[in-house]
Amino acid sequence: MKNIIFIAAPATGKGTFSNMLMERYGYNHISTGDLLRNIVKTNTSLGNEVANVLKSGKLVEDELMFKIIKEKLNQMDLTKPFIIDGLPRNINQALYLNKLFDELNVNNYMAINLDLEYEVALKRALGRLSCLNCGATYNKFFEKFKPIKENICDKCGNVLDSRTDDNEESFKERFETYQKNVKPILDYYMNNNKLLKINTHEFTNEEIFDIIINAVK
Ligand code: AMP
Repeated sequence: MKNIIFIAAPATGKGTFSNMLMERYGYNHISTGDLLRNIVKTNTSLGNEVANVLKSGKLVEDELMFKIIKEKLNQMDLTKPFIIDGLPRNINQALYLNKLFDELNVNNYMAINLDLEYEVALKRALGRLSCLNCGATYNKFFEKFKPIKENICDKCGNVLDSRTDDNEESFKERFETYQKNVKPILDYYMNNNKLLKINTHEFTNEEIFDIIINAVK
C-alpha cells in the first residue's frame, strides 16, 4: 500500500478516512492538528502560543511544523504504510516534506486532495463532536452520525466535546487559508504525477474510501 498525504479543506472527513485506513489496512496516522493539540495540553508557554493560533484558525509557523513532522517521521516504523493528515498546508511545507522523504528514502506515496463546498463544510464543522478519550467522532447535525445518547460517546461513554476552532469565525479563516494556499500544493503534486483529487460531496464515505483504496493499492 502507498503512503498517503491528505490535502484537504477543513471538515472534509480526512480524520474519518484516516480511521478507516488504520482499522482496515493497518496504516499509521500522523495528524499534525492532533500533535499540536497535544502540545497545547502541556500548558507550557509554547502550548499557550499554539492554543491561540489554533483558536484563531491561522497556521502555526513553518519552523515548528518542520520540527514536529521530522521528529514524528524519524520515530515511526516506515516499513508500515502511513498517512500524513494536515501537512503540507503551504508550498514551503510541501518542499520541506519532499526533502524529508528523500532523506528517509520514502518514494511510494500519493497526495490525495479532498475538497468540499464552503457551506457543506461549515455545517459539518459546526456539528462536529469528538471524544477526547478514544478519538471517535460524531456529528449532531447528521442523523447517521449522531451519538446514540446525546453528547455521550457510543464507544467509551465519555462526554463529547467540540473543537475550540469549530466555530463560524475560525472556520471561515481556516477555509480561506486553505483556499489561498492549496493551488500551488496541488500543482506541485500533479506535476510529479502524485495527485488524486476527490470532491467529497459527490460520493458517500464508502465510495470515497473505495476510490482511495483503489488508488493506493
Ligand atoms: P486540523 O486538525 O488539521 O484541522 O488542524 C487544526 C489547526 O492546527 C489548523 O487550523 C492550524 O492552526 C494548525 N495546523 C495543523 N497542521 C498545520 C500545518 N501543517 N501547518 C500549520 N498549522 C497547522
